[in-house]
Amino acid sequence: MRLPVFSSKFTPNAVLVVLINFSAVYARTATSEADEAQITDPVEECTAYYYAPVTDALDGFPTIWQPATIVSNDTEAQNIWANISQSVPTNIFPHGDIYGDWNDTSYNVAEDPDCWWTKSLCTTPKLSTLPSDVASIPEPETMGYGFDDGPNCSHNAFYDYLLEQNQKATMFFIGSNVLDWPYEAMRAIDEGHEICAHTWSHHYMTGFSSEDAFAELYYSMKAIKLVLGVTPTCWRPPFGDVDDRIRAIAEGLGLQTIIWQYDSFDWEEQSGNITAAQVYTNYDNFIAKAENGTFNTEGSIMLTHELNNFTMQTAVTYYPKLKDAFKYLVPVGVALNKTQPYVETNYSLPTFDEYISGNVTTNSSSSSSSSSNSTSSSTSQSSSAGVPLIQTISSVLLASITLGILMLAV
Ligand SMILES: [Zn+2]
Repeated sequence: MRLPVFSSKFTPNAVLVVLINFSAVYARTATSEADEAQITDPVEECTAYYYAPVTDALDGFPTIWQPATIVSNDTEAQNIWANISQSVPTNIFPHGDIYGDWNDTSYNVAEDPDCWWTKSLCTTPKLSTLPSDVASIPEPETMGYGFDDGPNCSHNAFYDYLLEQNQKATMFFIGSNVLDWPYEAMRAIDEGHEICAHTWSHHYMTGFSSEDAFAELYYSMKAIKLVLGVTPTCWRPPFGDVDDRIRAIAEGLGLQTIIWQYDSFDWEEQSGNITAAQVYTNYDNFIAKAENGTFNTEGSIMLTHELNNFTMQTAVTYYPKLKDAFKYLVPVGVALNKTQPYVETNYSLPTFDEYISGNVTTNSSSSSSSSSNSTSSSTSQSSSAGVPLIQTISSVLLASITLGILMLAV
């Protein structure tokens, strides 16, 4: 898809991030993907920075972290939605709200007419035109290795570890995070991880109207395209909240729906609802299943996150144990032998056989044609494809802006 050019502006979100980071505003801000990847101080890692291609394009996106709707003057999105909406069922209605409140619904769970995963763990749509979700891995003794909710502003230690282990994973990126932390997103794809979408604002998808659910997926894809130069072909619903109506919208956008069989519940530790020990037990139980032969005929997926230091540290702690328990840990797309992970044809994933024989790297080239305007090269890969050169502003300028805002506020 071709991205229009927008005027430059500072968003309230960007300002908010700067305000939150006021105490750290004198820390240096990242100036490039390579520069960002070198930062190890968590405060510096999570100091907001200016990246012109994102700032210049913000008018074309919904407000970052707010539930998405189609941007009012976005005729391209409107046209795509008009086309897709024709194949979206109109007899499946939103469930509850986008915050996961289903108290006022009277859904028939036993019959499960909508194949609503949240209620029934259904992954085979009732609507015969839709493909089944990916919930397990066809390769035996194999784990589909992936992480939700990135790119996180403080993921360098985790990505350093994955690089050290020569381990690739599937990263389910939130559109708003991609625009907030573009250099971190670039690092993921440039180091060979597979990128899938994880919606624009991370809400319960079955609570959205069909048009807004489309916007949640569409703008997350567009954010990934803007920053990484590729259009994803897979997505994971936040909280696993998907039904046939949402699946039809995803299918219309060319997105394969990827779920999981086991949940580490690492994401819930920060809420205090469960303890770290319980998360470790979930990992241990999953590993025990691998060791007792549960996955001898079909591999599996466990839900884990690039969400915070706990989830990433736990992933690092358990990586050697998972490696021991499973024969192979591979990105989901690799396990599916999905060698073309993006719409653009100048990228490829290794086949499963290639990956397990040591060729774990994503290949990219500038020679392949594409229906999009991607201009990725073999050396720069995804980063900044087709967008202007990186521009930065200094910490001093950021500090001045913040001080000005604070003075206005008091
Ligand atoms: Zn998530």
